[in-house]
Amino acid sequence: MRGSFDGSQVRAAENGTWLCNGAVVDGTGRPPFLGDVLLAGDEIKAVSAPVAEVDESDRIDCTGLTIVPGFIDIHTHSDVSFLHEPGAGSKVAQGVTTEVIGNCGFSPFPVARSRRDALEEFITGIGFPRQRVWWDDLAGFAEAVTASGPVMNVVPLVGHGALRIACTGSTDVHLDRADLERLAASLGKSLEQGAFGMSSGLTYVPSKFANLDELVRLGRVLAEHGAMYATHARATPGTEPFEEAIAVCRAAGVKLQFSHVALNDPKMWRRAPEVVALFQAAADRGLDVRYDVYPYHASASALTQYLPGWLQESGETGIREQLSSGRLYDRARRELSRGLFGAIPWDWSRVVFSFVDTGRPELAGRSVAQAAEALDTGPEDLCLDLCARYGNRVQVVLFYRDEADVEFFLADPLSIVGSDGSAMTEDAPGKPHPRNFGAHARLIERYVRARSVVDLPTAVHKSTLAAAERLGLIDRGRIAAGAKADIAVLDLAAVRERATWADPCRYAEGVRHVWINGRQVVAYGRTTGARAGRFLLRGR
Ligand SMILES: [Zn+2]
Repeated sequence: MRGSFDGSQVRAAENGTWLCNGAVVDGTGRPPFLGDVLLAGDEIKAVSAPVAEVDESDRIDCTGLTIVPGFIDIHTHSDVSFLHEPGAGSKVAQGVTTEVIGNCGFSPFPVARSRRDALEEFITGIGFPRQRVWWDDLAGFAEAVTASGPVMNVVPLVGHGALRIACTGSTDVHLDRADLERLAASLGKSLEQGAFGMSSGLTYVPSKFANLDELVRLGRVLAEHGAMYATHARATPGTEPFEEAIAVCRAAGVKLQFSHVALNDPKMWRRAPEVVALFQAAADRGLDVRYDVYPYHASASALTQYLPGWLQESGETGIREQLSSGRLYDRARRELSRGLFGAIPWDWSRVVFSFVDTGRPELAGRSVAQAAEALDTGPEDLCLDLCARYGNRVQVVLFYRDEADVEFFLADPLSIVGSDGSAMTEDAPGKPHPRNFGAHARLIERYVRARSVVDLPTAVHKSTLAAAERLGLIDRGRIAAGAKADIAVLDLAAVRERATWADPCRYAEGVRHVWINGRQVVAYGRTTGARAGRFLLRGR
């Protein structure tokens, strides 16, 4: 799609901007080439060999810089953050121009009026303060986000947990045929309103209560709409989580996006090749299978996720009430002590508090083991006590992964890079996972430049066109004439993740310019204040 230079493009430049003489990495994965890129309106008008004659006033010199499509972060939890922080500082600073929300079963829609409270509490599980939900569905939420003036594009998935809460609540109920059809109809409505797919979160209440039949039934609805099934898989042993996801894909004929692939069980460490072989075998059989990965050897979530399911069914109040009974407390303690997801032996020195309510800042950055010792209590008792007091406002980072697996997944052609992070500002409380601030910068700094795990065009492809194709975003993710003008200009040698585990709330460096829908939102490393984002709806 590389355009050739002709006189008409010089005239077009009167109403556009030339990015001149940059190394263009166009998102397809092919090698960089030296070129000029003309932006006009909200589109890329032309891509050409360097042109000498462009008027100074219409040109931005990109000599020595790299022009890439803006990053499309296929796995984020920025859902409600756009309502509070529409400037999305941590993401813009990395050159991200599109956030895919609604992952891991969490989305702030649809809403059943009688269960508005339950949904509000549910979405605190992705790490944000409680958000009042005043809309009823995707259309209403899209309006709310649009009214906040988001800096970047937003692509919604609908969460299976949210669908289930709206239809049958948070409890572990068996869905009869009629329930299942109501759930399927509700999914259909979100898809008709423009959701790009559905995500499940099979370690979270209530998504975890779904059986294979339910997932396949919903998968068929997705397949009918040509939409994607993203899954945060169950924490079952060995390769079972991957096999279940592939089984849904095969039985429903739906395209599968396996979310944030990782091996958390030490028994599975260094076995990434086996997992990739499973995905590859499925792809070889003609199934539409991809997965995403984030470039860190640690995960993060609410601590409540690791409590027994029965304890979580009636929300924070239910946790508090049940733990006040001695008998249920003992049962919860016994079940929690069985390990991570009830199976992987706990090493409490690997579980680090990232945020514990606003009243307990001293805990952020300390491991559960350290904190329990200092407070002269047991780690399980400390966890139960904090969850009873603060519910989902207890967030942890878990160092339960092996770096070799991360690198193997990153290098595999089936992987796409998503952060699993949210848009935040540098004054975010606690010590959140650095992925919120640095995933895309880290990909370049560490896995392209320092470790040579992937080359630059491949890394850019995994963060742009590969994600766009997965979602069916036909006009984004590449530098080509006719594509939307979502662009980042990088000073490649200066791209650096400043976030660390100890000091995570630091914007990344090295992104010189960013355009979103043709408007410049970062110029010479500083945000311009332009709010150029669009809430994208499938088929619109
Ligand atoms: Zn997840």
